[in-house]
Amino acid sequence: MVKQRDVTVFYDERVMAHHPDSEVQFLPGRLDKRVRSMLSGLNVQWKYPEHPGRITAIMDLLAREPIPGVQFQPGKAATRDQLGRVHTTSFLDDIFSLRNESAWLDVDTTAVSPGSVEAAEVAAGTAIAAVEAVVEGRTGSAFAVIRPPGHHAEPVRARGFCLFNNVAIAASHAQNALGCKRVLIIDWDAHHGNGTQDIFWADPDIIFFDMHRAAPFYPGTGALTDVGAGRGEGTTINVPMPGGAGDEAYLKAMREILVPAADYFKPDLVLVSAGFDAHWFDLALNVSYEGFSSMTGIVQGIADKHCGGRLAMILEGGYNTESLSRGVHTVLEVLAGAEPKKPRVCGIAEVEAAADFHRDAFAPDNPD
Ligand SMILES: [Zn+2]
Repeated sequence: MVKQRDVTVFYDERVMAHHPDSEVQFLPGRLDKRVRSMLSGLNVQWKYPEHPGRITAIMDLLAREPIPGVQFQPGKAATRDQLGRVHTTSFLDDIFSLRNESAWLDVDTTAVSPGSVEAAEVAAGTAIAAVEAVVEGRTGSAFAVIRPPGHHAEPVRARGFCLFNNVAIAASHAQNALGCKRVLIIDWDAHHGNGTQDIFWADPDIIFFDMHRAAPFYPGTGALTDVGAGRGEGTTINVPMPGGAGDEAYLKAMREILVPAADYFKPDLVLVSAGFDAHWFDLALNVSYEGFSSMTGIVQGIADKHCGGRLAMILEGGYNTESLSRGVHTVLEVLAGAEPKKPRVCGIAEVEAAADFHRDAFAPDNPD
């Protein structure tokens, strides 16, 4: 019997106000024309995939299937100083000038609606609230259910549906305001966390471990040989994987690369850029719910060993609302003390049952 652990889910409904509608006219300009010509070239109706329904699906499932030990807390808005630890003044001026506007920010179709700037401030602030609760010992672990996501946002550029780099802002806050020295960031989203890598590229005190589908898959960064530079050389760890890689590849990377790296660096806080687009429903990689369950067990083991269990997860991507919500639920069960589930080869149990079902039909007739 595993002991129940306290987990706090941080959620603030203001993150729902980020709702770019690609049907409405955005601010005039070259970018608007370029994005529109790109979208019109698609053969399917394009809808903004990073939408509020992602969060609704997660919160609805947690209400329908409550997990003992999981409690809920509201989020808060990040201050400009907190955002300014990882983003430049000119970038923040530019983003804040879009308050109450609709605009395209990048040809990868990142965009804002009138409520987006506040939603992004609240997403980053809610990641900070999760980290504060963990470091101050008010909860065993925490999960910030936020959007827009953050790990593609660079110091000077919003992209990949990300405005502010939430996990980087939370890690910097832990270092600058909460007394943490070394922070381990694990990014298991299907896409490489190019923004987080950039921000901490030369930082010796942030260990960034990223498993992702290899280039040319978006954003095309995160090569094996990208290991950081200067005093940060060696603190960036990339594990690019081919499309279709699944549980075994993810778990092997964590056991053989992440765990030894964590033993070497001895972090005093563990953060996870928790995306769920590596689930096979999102078609890029092949991780199962049992895979996410086992991965959570490994991360929890690292946090228990090095920093008294101090672990905060920050939501990133995941665009199939069924696997996103079930994935978050699965992770929270393990954070709350459930035994991690072991991955199995998909379909084998069903084929064994089918073999039992059909066996008699084709047995030789009894000679008696
Ligand atoms: Zn992603």
